[in-house]
Amino acid sequence: MAPSLGFDVPRIALGTFPTSVERLAGASTAHVDVWVKRDDRSGERYGGNKVRKLEPVLFEAKRKGKKRLLTVGAAGSHHVLATTLYGTIHGFRVAAVLVPQPTSPHVEENLRAGLGLGLEAHRACGYADTPLQVLAHMSLETAFVPLGGSSVVGTLGYVSAALELAEQVGRGEIPEPDLIVTALGSGGTVAGLAVGLEASGLRTRVLGVAVSSPAAMHAAMMRNLVKRASKRVPGVDPKHALARVTVDAERIGAGYGHATRAGDEATAIALAQGLVLDPTYTAKSFAGLLAERDARERKATSSTLLFWHTLSSVPLAKLLEGAPARIEGDLASLLLPG
Ligand SMILES: *Cc1c(COP(=O)(O)O)cnc(C)c1O
Repeated sequence: MAPSLGFDVPRIALGTFPTSVERLAGASTAHVDVWVKRDDRSGERYGGNKVRKLEPVLFEAKRKGKKRLLTVGAAGSHHVLATTLYGTIHGFRVAAVLVPQPTSPHVEENLRAGLGLGLEAHRACGYADTPLQVLAHMSLETAFVPLGGSSVVGTLGYVSAALELAEQVGRGEIPEPDLIVTALGSGGTVAGLAVGLEASGLRTRVLGVAVSSPAAMHAAMMRNLVKRASKRVPGVDPKHALARVTVDAERIGAGYGHATRAGDEATAIALAQGLVLDPTYTAKSFAGLLAERDARERKATSSTLLFWHTLSSVPLAKLLEGAPARIEGDLASLLLPG
């Protein structure tokens, strides 16, 4: 069951891998076993799903001789924070074009932590305004890192992640999952997993739970990444990789960053199992997992579901040490009423 390919992405090691797999006894039912892949602990200083994507992204920027990274994201973006942290550790200056988002203590802390780490922040009015802002702040020494770190190269970080899972299955640490459930944002995580699973020989499928509207656009971004990343992995047919993915568009609620009732309920259930979720991504993806679990349980379908945890669980306190006490001036308008 060992992965058949010697697939290896050149990367700067940022994280702590492999992340563990654990059974969630309290979330499992008579027929459906629920497990978690602890990518919340993918890094010592900061975890979550951005670490795996940044490893090859930073390698490529270094290789090209770039000195500065420019990325985009919502005001409280985990990706912007992770890029700022790991980018500056590896000698890059880091800038981001930020888009307003409904605020919460978590969103505000992410932004404060980024600014404390030296993030050069530029405000955009909305996503439509970001291309112009990016052009305005680009330079020859700057590597542009797309939304969520989901370039083709970043996506390859999640190809490796699927192969890591296949090794864990091979070692008997977890039964072969029928389905991985995870959040679908910029698409790199779901796309990389789909391609990596196709390369791994596992039968596992992927359910991407859309967290913002329009879900069809995010699904299209993800499918485009599957096609392009497939070309980089020997022996993977993009059609087969695409056929592994289903998108759940039913968990979005009022939109990106808006909490939902199902998400809040899922958060409480996860917390009882020792997992901390956020309202924007993981509350909705875990709600998607619970809906899938219940559907399978009603049909008495014996299954193994794997919740791929994408939120950092490293306390932010350390990263907030040098941070401004509050967001002021121009940037304050990035934080919309919650
Ligand atoms: C960015 C993010 C996602 C979405 O991952 P994509 O690869 O952008 O689709 C999911 N969960 C969390 C916590 C994130 O920060």
